[in-house]
Formats: sequence, structure tokens, C-alpha cells
Amino acid sequence: MVEIKYVPSICPYCGTGCGINFVVKDGKIIGVEPWKRHPVNEGKVCPKGNFGWQFINHPDRLTTPLIKENGEFREASWDEALDLVASTLKKYADTDPNKLGFYACARSPNENIYITQKLARAGCGTQNVDHCARICHGPTVAGLATTFGSGASTNGYDSIEEADFIFCIGSNNMEAHPLFGRKIIRAIKNGAKLVVADPRFTPTAKLAHEYMQFKTGTDVALMNGMIKIIIENGLQDDEFIKNRTKGYEEMKEVAMKYDLEKVAEITEADPEQIERVAIEYAQAENAAIVYSLGITEHSHGADNVMSTANLAMLTGNLGKIGGGVNPLRGQNNVQGACDMGALPSDYVGYQKVANPEITKKFSEAYQIDLPTTPGLTLVEMMNAAHAGDLKVLYIHGEDPVLSDADVQHTKEALANLEMLVVQECFLTDTAQCADVVLPAAGWGEQEGTFTSGERRVQCLHKAQEPPEGAWLDWKIMEEIAVRMGVPRALFHYESAEEIFEEIRECAPIMAGMDRKRLDTPEALHWPCPSEDDPCQPLMHKEKFAHPDGLGVFQALEHKGPVETVDDEYPLLLTTTRILFHYHAAMTRRCETLSNEVKTGFIEINTKDAEARGILNGEVVRAFSRRGEIAIPARVTDDIREGIVNIPMHFVECAANVLTNSDSFDPKSKMVELKACAIQVEKLP
Ligand code: SF4
Repeated sequence: MVEIKYVPSICPYCGTGCGINFVVKDGKIIGVEPWKRHPVNEGKVCPKGNFGWQFINHPDRLTTPLIKENGEFREASWDEALDLVASTLKKYADTDPNKLGFYACARSPNENIYITQKLARAGCGTQNVDHCARICHGPTVAGLATTFGSGASTNGYDSIEEADFIFCIGSNNMEAHPLFGRKIIRAIKNGAKLVVADPRFTPTAKLAHEYMQFKTGTDVALMNGMIKIIIENGLQDDEFIKNRTKGYEEMKEVAMKYDLEKVAEITEADPEQIERVAIEYAQAENAAIVYSLGITEHSHGADNVMSTANLAMLTGNLGKIGGGVNPLRGQNNVQGACDMGALPSDYVGYQKVANPEITKKFSEAYQIDLPTTPGLTLVEMMNAAHAGDLKVLYIHGEDPVLSDADVQHTKEALANLEMLVVQECFLTDTAQCADVVLPAAGWGEQEGTFTSGERRVQCLHKAQEPPEGAWLDWKIMEEIAVRMGVPRALFHYESAEEIFEEIRECAPIMAGMDRKRLDTPEALHWPCPSEDDPCQPLMHKEKFAHPDGLGVFQALEHKGPVETVDDEYPLLLTTTRILFHYHAAMTRRCETLSNEVKTGFIEINTKDAEARGILNGEVVRAFSRRGEIAIPARVTDDIREGIVNIPMHFVECAANVLTNSDSFDPKSKMVELKACAIQVEKLP
């Protein structure tokens, strides 16, 4: 008899955290069905949720460890591969742990991520552990922690449906977070006004009551201009400012320099529209700000984030349903990766490395002396590898060759390592550069939890066995730690559930996450300090998360992109994601998704294309100071003149060949993935 089972899980793509059920026949995943009882997606999913399972049983799955010799991979036994990795890590752990670095995987369950940072800290004694939030929502973590005391979304997703006014800036959620976009559509039906500010006339902008087109990288100027208008019209919330914040006068002094004429000149937006939108935002009963990577992926990303916080505090739009600052997190578990302490400055639950008391606590728990100096960020690790200062990099499920700025720089850095270890399901572009590849179990093949962008920690369940030869991530790392001689008592897990219990013990923000309460469709949001806490999603209701309970305004000046256009490189490149893909390793191995969009393209304004004699669909040459690609042109009026856009998923015409890894946000260490100068021309 054919046995069909339905196994509940969570979508592994964007941070919306939709519930699905795997459809399992004779022990193999054969499809998914949207989880009807799930509170986020209520029986709906986007194309990635629907077809994004097809990679699981793809013939490209890795099933044997690989070791590179003389530039070629050969198959190896698990024993040989694990011994080689363990002995190399041990060599530096005993002599100079700062020569070691770890990238955790923001796609992987919390339990695996926790073990990655534990291997780095408890196993190797280094704080050099980070993950892709650094080049995604690192500025959110830094910016919202500075202003509100907690670097996470202030409201749950349902809150947006109660908003009267939604100011959406730098987020194309109808493509990147479609089921959150569905909630915005519901908000509009409930009477909300939607304004979308974006350099591109995106599918989200097309839904809006007003589309505010402005120049890439001028967000701080735009929001300072809005703040000035609000104050000049006496629309600020004086009571909220007085009772719940500090730093207002300093912020006001800077913002008041941004008169409309100056703002219109910097942003190239319509001054009347800026004024109207500012007044409507301030007058709304419940006004929400929604943003995503259009705000964060800049050399001043943290300033952009803090500008959204300034606007919300100015108008008292915090601590209430329908308001708030709502960053839409990128990867499915990038929130969880931050929460788990895959950050060089924070242990699990945002406990600070720089706090001697906290580091003493973890040094005791992990039975090793840990430094109180934060480690290297992801970008700094890559630069250190390039300079020869980092010797071993352990990459758990990330693909920086595709996702980091300046592919050439990344490849040179990886080639400069003594050992690159990649733990993966597929031989990704990064895995191809590795010295040792460790085949890992994937989504659907393990138990664990993901944490969505609204801080909802949700259980996922195993629906099939991993392919023979692929191991659970936490088992691989546990085995390496033991072979390094780390006390067995520190790495002795029987299940992901046991790891989660340790996480609860270490992280006060998750202490109340009892399994029975967690493993329900509603799951639990953090902060969840005790088992009787309601763990509801709204934060900062009566006070902010800073020790004194006050929100902190920030005085911010416009800076703009580091690399500006000139005669040689006259177009500003921005990079994006599209509806049918999420990075590449998984979705490009899903036949249905891959058939929808087979390769990349460059969006170019009709006038810019005409000036270059470029026709829609023709393959053109796009080049920057870093490199060049050949890529089909998509000629459109949906993008501003002077700006071009490339989706980042396609290695054969990779946007990141062109982007700039030198342009750093000093506050968050973000590189400027959203703005660099390029030229586009016809191929000869
Ligand atoms: Fe998955 Fe995001 Fe689509 Fe939901 S909206 S189905 S989480 S990709």
C-alpha cells in the first residue's frame, strides 16, 4: 500500500516564515501543500513556497566528503575528512585562534547555527563568527539596537493590517516577501494608504496609492526632509518625545538643515510629494514603516535604518499595533542566526562579547578563555583572508562567491587560505573553491527551528532521511569538536531538541520557550523570558529595550554612495532579488522555478538604452572598475534614468562581479551592494 504522510515545516526561503506541509510518499518528499492553519500564510504560498522543494532530491546532492589535491577533488571517507579539518582547526586553536573564521548558515535551523558559533567559540576560542546578515540586515541589527535597544522588528506581521498609513521604503515585498505583501494588500482593503519610495517602479510600487521615485542612496536626506516638514507643521508627538526618548534636540538641529529645496536636489524627488507624504505619515493614527535591503545595503545602511527609527519616534508610532518599524528580513532564518550569536560581537540572545561579565559566563560554560574583543565580521574575515591574515575559513551553507561584493576579490581571498572548509548540500560556486567539502543534510531532512522576521520561533520536522552519506550539520560539527579534543561534555547531543534546551538555558530572551508551546501553528515570539509569559509580538509598548527604557534619536547627515558616477562609469547599479529565485543553489535546482526565469538580465531605462543603441533582449557588456559581464538587457521605463538593476542570482552574469567590496558602513560593516558606478554598452 502507498503511504502518504503530511509533515509540517516552514518555508526555507524568505523571512516571512510561511507554514507548509511536506507531502511524503513511501518515505520521499514529493511535494508541499500550504499549511491552512498557519497564522502567517493561511493556506497560501508564493511560487518559491510552492515549487521550492524540488531541489531536495536533485541528483546534484553531495553524498561523499571531498578533499582537493593538486587542484582536483577526490572522494574521501568521513574519517579522513573530519580528521583533516579537526587537526587544522586545532593547530590554530592552540596557537593563534584569530587565524580561524566561521560563517554560519542563515538558511539552516537555529540548532545548527548555535553549534557553528559554539564550535568557533568553545572549540577554537575565536570570536570570528558571522553570517550573511552582515551584508543584508546587519544595519538593522546595529541601527535598531542603537535607537530602540533591540535590533529586531518592532511589530508582528499582522500589525500591518491595522495600519492607516504605510510608508514602504526600499522594499519590493510583492516579489521578495510576497506573503507579507499579501498583508499589505489586506491593509489597503482595510483603508490604509500605501506610499512606496523606491528608485524602481516595482510590482510593490505599482500597488501603491503614491509612488515616490528617488535617487539610490539618498534615503537619509529624504527622511531628514520629512522630519523637518513634520516639525515645522507642529505634527511631532511632544508627549512621546518627552517621556520615552532622548537626543531629540540634537537630531532636530541636524534635520532642520534639510529644507525641501535641498532635499529635492539631493534625492531628485518631487518636493510637493515629499511634503505631502511627510504630513500624511505624521497625521495618521497608526503609521507603519516597512523597509528591506533598499535601506540596508549601503555604506550608510545603519544611518538609513536609524532615520526610519527617528521618523517613528518623532511621531510616536511605536509600541502600538499598526505602527512601528518593520524590517523585512531576507533569508528564512537570518533573524535566528543573529539570535543564536552567529555574530562576532554577541553571544546567543544578544549578550555582548565586550561585557566582561557576559564573556566570563560563556568562558565558564564553554570551558575556555574567550576574548572580550569582538571578532572579525564576515567582510573583515574575507579581507583578512585576502591579506593572508586568516588561514582557515569554515563556511557552513553560505555561498559568498555569488552573494558577496566583488567576486574576483572573494575568489582571490578564498584561494589565499590554507584551508577552506565548506559544509553544503551542493557543490556551489563557493564549494568549488574549497579544500574540504562536507556533505550535509538539508531542509526536510532534520528537526529544528527557524525564526522568522517577526521573531516567531517555529518548529520544523523531518520528512525524509538525508541521502546516504550526508550528515546532520550539528553532528558534523560535534564530531569535529570531539576530534579536536574538546571535552565530550560540551558536545554530547542526541537531538536538535537537546540543543534547543541549551539555547533556552543560555539566552534569557528565549528562556520561556517550552517545547509544547512552541510546536503549535502560532509558535512563540521572543522576547519570551518565562514559561508563563504571553510572548506576544509587539515590542517597546511601555519602554524601549535600553537599560533606561528610552529610545535614542540619532543626528544623521546625508552621505550618499561611496562610489559615484562619472564620465567613464555613468550609471549607478543596484542589485535585487526576483520572485522566482532566492540566491541560486536551491531555486535554480527547482525545475519549475528555473523555467520561469532561466538567466539574469540588466534593467535599463529606455532613454539610457536608446542613447547606447541597445535593444530590449540583446546581450550587452556591463562593466565596472572590478570586472565585466555579458548580460541580456531589459529595456524599461520602470527604472529611473541613470540607474540600472541586476538580480543577484545568476552566476553566468553575476551582479557581484561589478559591485564594490571597498565601500564599508563603519557602523555595521555592511558593504555597498546597492550602489556602484558602471557602464553598459553594446557588444561589438
Ligand atoms: Fe516562502 Fe517567503 Fe514565499 Fe512565504 S513569502 S512562501 S516564506 S518565499
